Amino acid sequence: MLTDNFGRKFYYLRLSITDVCNFRCNYCLPDGYACDNDRDFLSLPEIKRVANAFAQMGTEKIRITGGEPSLRKDLPDIISACKQTAGIKKVAITSNGYKLPEHLPAWLDAGIDNINISIDSLDPRQFHAITGHNKLDHILKGIDMALADGRPNIKVNTVLMREYNGYDIQSYLNWLKDTPVTLRFIELMQTGDNQEFFDAQHVQGSRIKQNLILDGWLPCIQEKTAGPAQEFYHPDYQGKIGLIMPYSKDFCNTCNRLRISSLGKLHLCLFTEEGLSLKEYLQQDDVEPLKARIAAMMHDKKATHFLQDNLTGATKNLAMLGG
Ligand code: SAM
Ligand code: SF4
Repeated sequence: MLTDNFGRKFYYLRLSITDVCNFRCNYCLPDGYACDNDRDFLSLPEIKRVANAFAQMGTEKIRITGGEPSLRKDLPDIISACKQTAGIKKVAITSNGYKLPEHLPAWLDAGIDNINISIDSLDPRQFHAITGHNKLDHILKGIDMALADGRPNIKVNTVLMREYNGYDIQSYLNWLKDTPVTLRFIELMQTGDNQEFFDAQHVQGSRIKQNLILDGWLPCIQEKTAGPAQEFYHPDYQGKIGLIMPYSKDFCNTCNRLRISSLGKLHLCLFTEEGLSLKEYLQQDDVEPLKARIAAMMHDKKATHFLQDNLTGATKNLAMLGG
C-alpha cells in the first residue's frame, strides 16, 4: 500500500490526460488555453502502465481529468483501460461537459462509474460570463440523460466566487430539491496566475456550512476513496451538498490522493514546486521499476500545502494538473 511519512494511505489517483481546454473559466484560463509547452501527452499504453502500477500499490479509484479530458478522441478507450485494470474499483471523470449528451453513451459503454461536471452558475448568462461559452442548457440536458440512465453517480462542481455565485446559493438549493446529484461548492484556490481574481472573489465555505446545518442538513458518512468534500443530506432534498474548503484547518490530514500530469509527472500535492517525471519508467510493460520509483518519491510528500502563506508552487492554473 502506498503510504507517506505521515501514515496517510493513497487509494485515489487523479490522472490528467491533457492540459488543453476549450473553455475560458475566469478563475482558471481567463485568456483561454495557451499552447506554451510540449504536448507529448500520455499515450494509451503509458496510461495502462500508470493504472496498473498504482492499482498494484493499493489505488482503487482513478479520476480522469485535464484540461478538458473529453477533447481527447481516445477518452472512451482510456476509461475502458482504467476500468479493466485489476484492482481498480471505480473510474471517474471531471469534465466541463460541453458535449455531454453526445459523449455520454460512449463513456457509459466504457464503464464510467462517476461523472463530475463543472457548473459555476445555473443562470445561463452568468454561466456564459464565467466560462466564455453559452452551453448551460446543453450540459444540463446531458446531466438529465445521465440521471435517466441511472448507472453513473453524478456530481456537480461549483467554484464559489463572491460576485458570480457567492450570493446565489438559493438557485442551487431549488435545483437540488428534485435533482439527485451531489453539488460540491469548492472554495476558490489561489494559483500562480489568478492572484488578483482570488483576492477579489474568494469566499469561505464555512458560512454556507453553518447555514446548511441550521436548515437541517446532516453530515454523510464518507468512503475511504472519497474526495475531500464534507457532504450533507436533507430529507426534503433529492440532491446532496458537499463543501471543499482547502483553507480550513486540518484539510490535508485526510489526503488520500496523488496526481499524474498529462506529461507523465507525479505531483505529490496540487501545489508542489515541481512534478517528478516518470516518463522513462512508462516505456515498458514491467511496472516493477515504476512502482519502486513512485514508492521512493512518497517520502518527499509534505504534511500540508502552503496556500495559507500564498505559496502556490509551480501551479499557474489548475488546468495544468486537473484540480
Ligand atoms: N475541465 C474540467 C472541468 O472544468 O471540470 C476538468 C479540469 S478542472 C481544472 C477541474 C476542477 O477544478 C473543476 O471543477 C474546476 O472548476 C476546478 N478549478 C479550476 N481552477 C480552480 C481554482 N482556482 N480554485 C478552485 N477550483 C478550481
Ligand atoms: Fe477548462 Fe476546467 Fe479550467 Fe474551466 S476549469 S478553463 S473547463 S480546465
